[in-house]
Amino acid sequence: MKREFAVIGLGRFGGSICYELSKEGMNVLAIDISEDKVNEFKNVASHAVIADSTDEATLKELGITNFDHVIVAIGDNIQASILTTVILSELGVNKITVKANNDYHAKIVNKIGAHHVVHPERDMGRRIAHSIISNNILDYLELSEDHSIVEVKVSHKMIGKSLVDLDIRANYGCNVVAIRQGNDINVSPRADEVLQEQEVLIVIGSDKDIARFEKELVIEDD
Ligand code: ATP
Repeated sequence: MKREFAVIGLGRFGGSICYELSKEGMNVLAIDISEDKVNEFKNVASHAVIADSTDEATLKELGITNFDHVIVAIGDNIQASILTTVILSELGVNKITVKANNDYHAKIVNKIGAHHVVHPERDMGRRIAHSIISNNILDYLELSEDHSIVEVKVSHKMIGKSLVDLDIRANYGCNVVAIRQGNDINVSPRADEVLQEQEVLIVIGSDKDIARFEKELVIEDD
């Protein structure tokens, strides 16, 4: 059965979620207070409606509790985002994801019932910062406040060595969870596997340990 999504707020972030979900064939109800925005998404989403999400009766009329997942993508108007989240939570919506503009906003929506909070600007800033530290750092994904996953190119210091030789776990406290070459991903790399140029390691660890691993093994003079 197709999953049902509702996206509230069709700015750049909500709009892009709406486009991607629709492109993947999902049922999406697009909601915005602005008529222009709703018109823009009429031919993208399964349904697009003009509504103020801070009005509980309107959300009920839209049958918001029937959706599997509701995404609150109201950014600038933090008050409207908070109020919408409280209403969704009180109505018992299955899964609520909220876009937060800052840590304060994130803290509040977490407390009042959001199941998942995203900070697209902050997260993208962090990812880009990591990738500009070195051409060898391809991606960076935060798992929690102090743990992350990084995708790093096998550096010259690693080529021709095995995971045992490098002993990344003992030396840096990080775990190599997969080795990628193009689209092939080996999710349980053997300890004696010799690393090749062009391969990419997917490494999990605490931010402190990852920083040390990157500094000592990954970052080269680009
Ligand atoms: P982005 O960076 O994604 O564009 P933003 O922070 O600029 O986000 P906002 O302009 O704050 O986003 O809001 C996104 C959308 O949410 C806008 O299209 C706005 O009309 C809509 N919106 C704001 N308040 C409400 C509300 N109470 N009910 C429904 N939609 C709303």
